[in-house]
Amino acid sequence: MTEHVFEIAPSGRSKCRSCGGAIAKDSIRFGEVMPNPFGDGNMTQWHHPGCAAFRRPEPLLEALAADGYEGPDVREITRQAESIQPHRRLQRIGKAERASSGRAKCRACQELIEKEAWRLPLIFFEDGNYASSGFIHATCTTQYCETQEVTDTVRHFAAELAADDLDELIKAIMA
Ligand SMILES: [Zn+2]
Ligand SMILES: [Zn+2]
Repeated sequence: MTEHVFEIAPSGRSKCRSCGGAIAKDSIRFGEVMPNPFGDGNMTQWHHPGCAAFRRPEPLLEALAADGYEGPDVREITRQAESIQPHRRLQRIGKAERASSGRAKCRACQELIEKEAWRLPLIFFEDGNYASSGFIHATCTTQYCETQEVTDTVRHFAAELAADDLDELIKAIMA
């Protein structure tokens, strides 16, 4: 079994594999350690611990159980990871956006996603890689994820949206 790690980021150069944002120097980062699919030995993928709770709950929970993570948010991220962990599809949804064209089909209902409509990208994790794999309508989110408990994830990855856009998005999802 590979040992995942928590450590203090020695620089500000690593990027979070969950949200794409920079991991600040001196903040705690979570490293998922896995066999390197391209060669020998292991590789480590870094995440903000709070983001890994949504994208990689399973290895994060393993690491939380094994290692003394002392971030102030330890209870919150443990609770979050436990609630996300059984929902495989929920771990795939990313940062919501308005459709830039009307050409993509929804991976849930197979209908075209209208230009300007809210959509969520799907990101698959496979063999150590994060691959984009199309979109779903915001309105198809709960059906696709097979749970109503989607708003924490949507809010987490939508941190850059304006408050009224976020309201509109959540309304579309819960409609
Ligand atoms: Zn992140
Ligand atoms: Zn749809």
